[in-house]
Amino acid sequence: MKDSEPKSVDFPAIPYPWQQAEWQRVLDQHLADKLPHALLFAGQQGLGKSHLAQALGQYLLCHSPRSGLACGECRACQLNRADTHPDFKLIRPEEAGKAIKIDQIRSLAEYVSKTSQQGGYKVVIIEPAEAMNINAANALLKSLEEPAGNTLIVLVSHVPSAVMPTVRSRCQTLTLLTPSKDLALPWLAAMASDDRAESLLQFADGAPLAALALLNGDLLEQRQGFQSTLSEVALGQVSPLEAAKKFLDLDTLELMDWLIAWVHGIACYLNAKDSGRGQTPEASLLPLLEGLDPTLLYRYLDKIMMSKRQLLSSANPNKQLLLEEILMDWRALARLSYGRARQARANELP
Ligand SMILES: [Zn+2]
Repeated sequence: MKDSEPKSVDFPAIPYPWQQAEWQRVLDQHLADKLPHALLFAGQQGLGKSHLAQALGQYLLCHSPRSGLACGECRACQLNRADTHPDFKLIRPEEAGKAIKIDQIRSLAEYVSKTSQQGGYKVVIIEPAEAMNINAANALLKSLEEPAGNTLIVLVSHVPSAVMPTVRSRCQTLTLLTPSKDLALPWLAAMASDDRAESLLQFADGAPLAALALLNGDLLEQRQGFQSTLSEVALGQVSPLEAAKKFLDLDTLELMDWLIAWVHGIACYLNAKDSGRGQTPEASLLPLLEGLDPTLLYRYLDKIMMSKRQLLSSANPNKQLLLEEILMDWRALARLSYGRARQARANELP
């Protein structure tokens, strides 16, 4: 059957070592009969939120779970393994990086209103939830309000602020935090069997699965190139327009995620400078960071997230224009910060 497919290797899904607290929390809720019918798994990309949602779905549908996990053998598990369980639904954009459409959510409304076929739970996973356009999100509200029987809808989101507030407020949010190195490194080192594990993890802003993905193909090189170009833009060595041209061949949505991770990494560095935590940015950027106003940095981060939303919601966004704008803003922010740092140094002179 489907045994040769790589998916079956990971069945049943077992929560990652850094997800144990969250896993225990939902299991306890379930055992106390207090599991809400809508959950929002939030957190940066690459923490395995979707994996955790699938583990929960498999567990809830399993007929004889063992030690808090799906058994992997019962009829329900067999159906889940083959991706054919009638009470398990996974909604993703039909095309990677595109929006989740209203039709996909409409079909969900009907599904949610019926009782389950196997007599137990019905599980729906929507990921990434921020990919729902406004019509789709509105259509989901009804399903979130009136699910029939034992229904669990799990929204998975890397950018929960981009999920419509009326949708968010109907879900119980479970935020997954970036794991400590103690938990992430041993896992990554075993998977990557690579002494680069530590630098990969730094590069992925601490997200273990994102770090692992960097090992595939030339992603690591692409990302390194992206970061050095951002530094060059900040230093005025490359114009924002030239830089935007360089990135046009890459997936714009992915670029947004890289940018968000990078800016977030800088914010973490600024916050935790004295504690030795956080990724140390390139040496050439350090003088700039001395004058960087964190409020402006966060505002810039908001702007990137807005652009990402724009990308997701527009059928035909002008990617070049969007990239140029973002890079011009970055250049302006860098200029301002240099000015402030220079001024501060001048003020220190006798
Ligand atoms: Zn089972």
